Amino acid sequence: MTDRSLETVTILGATGSIGRQTLDVLARNPERYRVLGLTAGHRWRELAEHCLTWRPPFAALADEQAAEALRNHLREAGSHTQVLAGHAGVAEVAALQEADTVVAAIVGAAGVRPTLAAVEAGKKILLANKETLVVTGALFMEAVKRHGATLLPVDSEHNAIFQCLPAEGVGPGVRRLLLTASGGPFRGWTREQLTAVTPEQAVCHPNWDMGPKISVDSATLMNKGLEYIEACWLFDVAPQRIEVVIHPQSVVHSMVEYLDGSVLAQMGTPDMRTPIACALSWPERIESGASRLDFATLSGLDFQAPDNDAFPCLGLARQAMEEGGAATAVLNAANEEAVAAFLDRRLGFNAIGAVVEETLQRTPSSRCADVDAVMDVDARARDLARSLIREWAC
Ligand code: NAD
Ligand code: MG
Repeated sequence: MTDRSLETVTILGATGSIGRQTLDVLARNPERYRVLGLTAGHRWRELAEHCLTWRPPFAALADEQAAEALRNHLREAGSHTQVLAGHAGVAEVAALQEADTVVAAIVGAAGVRPTLAAVEAGKKILLANKETLVVTGALFMEAVKRHGATLLPVDSEHNAIFQCLPAEGVGPGVRRLLLTASGGPFRGWTREQLTAVTPEQAVCHPNWDMGPKISVDSATLMNKGLEYIEACWLFDVAPQRIEVVIHPQSVVHSMVEYLDGSVLAQMGTPDMRTPIACALSWPERIESGASRLDFATLSGLDFQAPDNDAFPCLGLARQAMEEGGAATAVLNAANEEAVAAFLDRRLGFNAIGAVVEETLQRTPSSRCADVDAVMDVDARARDLARSLIREWAC
């Protein structure tokens, strides 16, 4: 028997870092939530485990063969979960009528269509998949308005800013938004030192435990660049009103500065379960499982400016946002290809920024009327980035 009074939650990207942490928060609050749908890319064994534990009515895998394997496995285990297949199957689960909340936690532009499917169904969207906003920007925000969807940020910085802003959002009383960044594992390194960085070093973040792609993005500071673009759209602020501050301890998750000089900061231990729980239960509060800040042992809070020479990706993101149109989609596509090649040892660490820069330079700026046009730009930018990667292979 399922309890229909519980809030129903669908998780897109249930096998990933954010997906698993969301399930952890749900497990701590069984009196409030039940799982309706779980989706993933191709890792069917992990999704099978989640399905057997959570018994969702629906599941989907983007990879059709993996979906077939999941379907067979669940049938043999006596599970009643209905398994959908392919990108259409993932989008269908994203838009289920019975869902109250959809957690968008797919990595990369692969999240665009399913997240938009949830928006078009008018859901409450807990947005972790920042690339969707970077790629589709204005089109995404218009769709949110048009379909009456609710958008709550899960990315820790944006969740922090959301908590520090008044309910009506950025008004005339707000001077700037201050996005904090840990600086990643290579903070303080020179460009020369960065030449020999390996994937193992890059995915080893000092403060956060995340999926491989965002870990590399954090190491290059592209993650902060994507978050800068994400903040412009989410809070409807001009790029000039957002500043990035390096804060190695990752205790202050971001801040809002007001006209009178007041600065409001949101603090906590670096644990994504806090913003996930905040967005799930907003405006109420629930247990997240995150450990509490211990002010007696907190060693200090440091702040400094980013090193834009050693880490050019942040500047490239700013440039793309200022250029507007589809430039941020080009930036994202080139970055996804370059990061994948770096993780595959086909490209050096410093070449990630170089591939992004060259792809941006060689792509004429364009405006896109709809998401299909944006995805065409994305595909062309990927082709160009891949040919550069082949040329510059290490
Ligand atoms: P991850 O690599 O750990 O998980 C990604 C999930 O997406 C997996 O479930 C995978 O199966 C699914 N997926 C991948 N390709 C897919 C496809 N083509 N179709 C359908 N599903 C697909 O990534 P993550 O670290 O959990 O990050 C997820 C998103 O959240 C990213 O956009 C990231 O930037 C953002 N985010 C993550 C963190 C974090 O702490 N991990 C923090 C803030 C924001
Ligand atoms: Mg973040």
